[in-house]
Amino acid sequence: MHRLYETEDISVFWNSDKCRHAKQCVQGCPEAFDINRKPWIHIDEAPADKVWKTISKCPSGALAIVYNHGVRIVYEADAQRSAAYLEDRLIGECDYEETENGWRIFHTEVDPEFGGKGIAKRLVYRVVQEAERNKSEVIPSCSYAKRILNL
Ligand code: SF4
Repeated sequence: MHRLYETEDISVFWNSDKCRHAKQCVQGCPEAFDINRKPWIHIDEAPADKVWKTISKCPSGALAIVYNHGVRIVYEADAQRSAAYLEDRLIGECDYEETENGWRIFHTEVDPEFGGKGIAKRLVYRVVQEAERNKSEVIPSCSYAKRILNL
């Protein structure tokens, strides 16, 4: 399972396949990580620096975090994409098509001016999260999506 949790300042990625259930997150920041709640991650309930520090100690890489740098990620179902906006400017997108075998991600691109900020990963996770919620398989066919999803 892939999930993207966002506040105005930070984005947190959660990949359940990688989790070793070592619970450093739960012990380090119980306000944000509570396995007795559903969903179990509430990054808006703890200071961003505490969440950041806790995630940096995750031994498996199941959790990851980036600052948003003012960039919003929006899921646009009609356009079959997630899109990244800096104010009203479109600076990136992740496009997919629905096939009989699942959602095929065929294009992920971020304006090079905004590279290295985790925006493409946020875009891919947003699409994958929607696909999983729709109980659809994900077929990453662009190189970036493959890399993000470790395929
Ligand atoms: S710290 Fe990482 S590996 Fe440990 S339970 Fe949390 S997400 Fe899983």
